[in-house]
Amino acid sequence: CGIIGYCGHRPAVPLVVEGLRRLEYRGYDSAGVSFVAGGELSVIRAEGKLSSLERKLERQHVFTATSGMGHTRWATHGPPVERNAHPHLDHTGRLAIIHNGIIENYQEIKAELAQKGVEFRSDTDSEVLVNLISDCLEDVGGDVTRAISKALSLVEGAYAIVVMSADHPGTLWATRAASPLVMGVGTGENFLGSDIPAFLPYTRDVVFLEDGELVKITATTWEVLKTDTLAPVDKTVSRINWD
Ligand code: GLU
Repeated sequence: CGIIGYCGHRPAVPLVVEGLRRLEYRGYDSAGVSFVAGGELSVIRAEGKLSSLERKLERQHVFTATSGMGHTRWATHGPPVERNAHPHLDHTGRLAIIHNGIIENYQEIKAELAQKGVEFRSDTDSEVLVNLISDCLEDVGGDVTRAISKALSLVEGAYAIVVMSADHPGTLWATRAASPLVMGVGTGENFLGSDIPAFLPYTRDVVFLEDGELVKITATTWEVLKTDTLAPVDKTVSRINWD
């Protein structure tokens, strides 16, 4: 439902939670964040309001990461409980995803992955997608961009996703098909959001992503590619003038 991603120089976790709060008007049933700490992906999630997530975060020392992502979920596949909240990790724990929308053919993919020995911990279509990307990662020599491209060629549905990798702590990947996704361009920081308010206090320079485009961001770089061919796409930065 609500998506925010951040790569920059500020403490990412509070910024991400604050971004989720500005997306609260869309409604949600659970929320979560992920970030890399000590070379490992951490995922913290809670059922219910953002205040429940914040209470959990207070008990952790999570304020050093300068990139991260967060999600507010509106359940479509599986009840609104913590294990179904996003982010979802793949079975290796090295990749995380947040996902808006629905993967139509997730049951077939889930069955194939289960046959290969993948164990699932949630009821969601989203956890299937992150495991599919992880499965493709082996075929493309560990290149996350190519793995996402390959996985999405096998997927039907509507989605906006953001992907994090424990092996690339300062990078986020995102792509969309029939679900909103925008990028915010800052100075020494870049943002992703399902809607502009997610990052509006930090930047008014926005790149509108189209269906079938994939973006890779770091704190200081961003590039947009065609999701299927990975050909570079020229994008213009638009200035937002409203409050
Ligand atoms: N289909 C996903 C789920 O049920 C995403 C829901 C959403 O768009 O928030 O978890």
